[in-house]
Amino acid sequence: MSKKVIELLNQARERELHAILQYMVEHYELDNDGYEKLGSLVKEIAITEMKHAEELGERVLFLGGTPVTKPSADVKKGLSIADQVKFNIELEIDAAKMYNASAVICAAEGDNVSKAIFEKLLAEEEGHMDEFQKIQEHIQKLGDVYIATLIG
Ligand code: FE
Ligand code: FE
Repeated sequence: MSKKVIELLNQARERELHAILQYMVEHYELDNDGYEKLGSLVKEIAITEMKHAEELGERVLFLGGTPVTKPSADVKKGLSIADQVKFNIELEIDAAKMYNASAVICAAEGDNVSKAIFEKLLAEEEGHMDEFQKIQEHIQKLGDVYIATLIG
């Protein structure tokens, strides 16, 4: 089996581990500040990223590799809501780009199961991107009036 594919799966897993930690921290900060509505949305997305990390790890294992355990970057703490959302959009865009490219490489390597995993994850990251972008648009249009609606 392709070493290249195992590397791609593990690189994706590193990203997922980072997203999990980042979104969990944001969820706790939001809850702590009373923005439970946004906090629960971010929590739900963190749980989806956990499933992504698991799926990638299981595929790595199946291909004879070792699933990585280190996240791709450190967590950012203490961001404003607007900055959290902006940062999350960037994370999702980067992940989507990487998964798109990875699906193409998996196909070239003749591994259509890994390709399908990347395509499934890609679609879900696009969904996350969309959710965060909607929030960003509301913040840009309505500012504090919208932020106030995120209180639990
Ligand atoms: Fe993900
Ligand atoms: Fe995501």
